[in-house]
Amino acid sequence: MKIRLAADLQADSIVDGEGIRTVIWTQGCPHNCKGCHNPDTHDFNGGALVDVEYVIEELRNIKNQDGITLSGGDPVCQSEACAVIAKAAHEMGLNVWCYTGYTYEYMLKNPKHKELLKNIDVLVDGKFVLEEKSYDLYFKGSRNQRIIDVQQSLLKETVVLVEKYKDEKEVATTYEKPAYMFI
Ligand code: SF4
Repeated sequence: MKIRLAADLQADSIVDGEGIRTVIWTQGCPHNCKGCHNPDTHDFNGGALVDVEYVIEELRNIKNQDGITLSGGDPVCQSEACAVIAKAAHEMGLNVWCYTGYTYEYMLKNPKHKELLKNIDVLVDGKFVLEEKSYDLYFKGSRNQRIIDVQQSLLKETVVLVEKYKDEKEVATTYEKPAYMFI
């Protein structure tokens, strides 16, 4: 199986989710959000096609990470490949965050996207809305986006937000590994 990436894996990120993370920058996004920071990742023919196994092997070689973050681009456009990578990450003891311009509810309706959800711990969903942009938000760009505890949401059959990131930066000033983390 192949995945189209916009860039090499980026280790040691502290801004793409909680803790120290390796970011997987997927290529291809249909949303065209006004003010997008990554327009080079929109073209579905851009970037480079690589084997999913290559990505997994790279993850095995990167040490001292808390988790991976699927970003882009929109990872949901390659949900099957992303689900395989996310599953492998969990088997390595890494937790999984995913950023998407789609909504959780949209993903639930599609079996491929739902399979990806089953392998995600935290989903940051919704398009970036320039008018809702704020620098006072943790791990998201605009207020409309939601930071969702995916496994609790699947279990309870309703959207469950990660409590500590519901609002502004003041809500979370210290880093504590929450229960949904695997390590
Ligand atoms: S979903 Fe993300 S990558 Fe896609 S256009 Fe919106 S901000 Fe840019």
